[in-house]
Amino acid sequence: MQVSIACNVGGGGGVGGGSSEHQLKERRAAMNTSAPSCQVKVKAEPENRLTLLGHAHMKEALGRHSNMKYRNLGKSGLRVSCLGLGTWVTFGSQISDEMAESVMSVAYDSGVNLFDTAEVYASGRAERTLGNILKKKGWSFGSLCGQLYWGGQAETERGLSRKHIIEGLRGSLSRLQLDYVDIVFANRSDVNAPMEEVVRAMTFVIEQGMAMYWGTSRWNAVEIMEAYSVARQFNLVPPVCEQAEYHYFQRDKVELQLPELYHKIGVGAVTWSPLACGLLTGKYNQGVPETSRAAMKGYDWLKERLCSDEGKKQLSKIRELHQLADRLNCTAAQLAIAWCLRSEGVSSVLLGVSNTEQLLENLGSITVLSQLTPPLVAEMDALLGNKPRNSKEAAKR
Ligand code: NAP
Repeated sequence: MQVSIACNVGGGGGVGGGSSEHQLKERRAAMNTSAPSCQVKVKAEPENRLTLLGHAHMKEALGRHSNMKYRNLGKSGLRVSCLGLGTWVTFGSQISDEMAESVMSVAYDSGVNLFDTAEVYASGRAERTLGNILKKKGWSFGSLCGQLYWGGQAETERGLSRKHIIEGLRGSLSRLQLDYVDIVFANRSDVNAPMEEVVRAMTFVIEQGMAMYWGTSRWNAVEIMEAYSVARQFNLVPPVCEQAEYHYFQRDKVELQLPELYHKIGVGAVTWSPLACGLLTGKYNQGVPETSRAAMKGYDWLKERLCSDEGKKQLSKIRELHQLADRLNCTAAQLAIAWCLRSEGVSSVLLGVSNTEQLLENLGSITVLSQLTPPLVAEMDALLGNKPRNSKEAAKR
């Protein structure tokens, strides 16, 4: 089960344990002095900025207490922060519980209202850590999403059978110490589970009050369309969003397929790995730093990727993008995240961080978004050389 939790926006508005406005001001002042890297040149942002980039469908709003922006989750009424916080690799594993709490506090106070975790992350420890922090802080939540697939070793503890969807979600809720999640995600499609069973089970957990919405993760467009059709045929609840990998080197699905689904059936995108596991920050340009994800046990695949021919080509492009970021007076990470935010149909970009400095830096991407003018995006496309083309565009060439 993978879980994303959306809490009340703005920070400080939570039930019990939330920060007062005074505390928030203090924290922000501290953030500004302790994290110069998150400061970027802020240019006045025209109201129609995102309309220019294809977001005519989204009514984006600025947070009341922060610079955070909120978007609808697909065409549902759920408002989520455009930057969410994920827990993969970090919570219950790479970072201490104290650091996890600091990271969550900075995120919450900065207006992040979407938190993502999964039953499979650190074998359930990520959910436990997140649940303990939520309980301690007493923040109130507006919505919660969860992904089900890998629950345990037994055949019935994984996949998308009715049994695992219901039992898996119960297990996640127990570890999170919550009554419900806002969005439950089917983390991967399951060829062994009939689509009608999956959609009926998702509808059941929603009707039982265990979740508010459901979404998919790593599903292809045909599978999402099938789920939608089944829901419509049997008067069940259709999915509202898809979780998809999206960054400079992984573009096709989010830029070509998901916008069509968004327009036709209202399925939005929550995207993940905006920094390609840290690669896009430039931290791997001179090798593998000891404390990085690629140096961790179990992440040899990342190290291997860096040494491959493809990885070397990507590193050289990353160096050029670094120069572009310097020109904009922002960091490479901020530019990469802002680039994801500009994309049509993206409701939220899930960040992963191993400390508060990284989070503060990455949150600064919101101000960089206003600098991503169409000519600049075109310059980045030319540099990357991988802009996906739909079949009509390809035929014109
Ligand atoms: P990412 O942004 O691509 O990578 C995050 C990692 O990059 C951090 O843990 C950190 O690792 C490094 N980093 C981040 N900011 C940095 C900065 N400013 N400077 C230097 N290094 C920085 O995101 P991700 O963790 O891969 O994915 C984000 C979230 O998406 C996950 O937590 C998870 O919730 C979700 N997700 C979902 C799926 C799915 O199948 N649905 C799959 C993957 C992820 P080090 O410090 O260790 O180098």
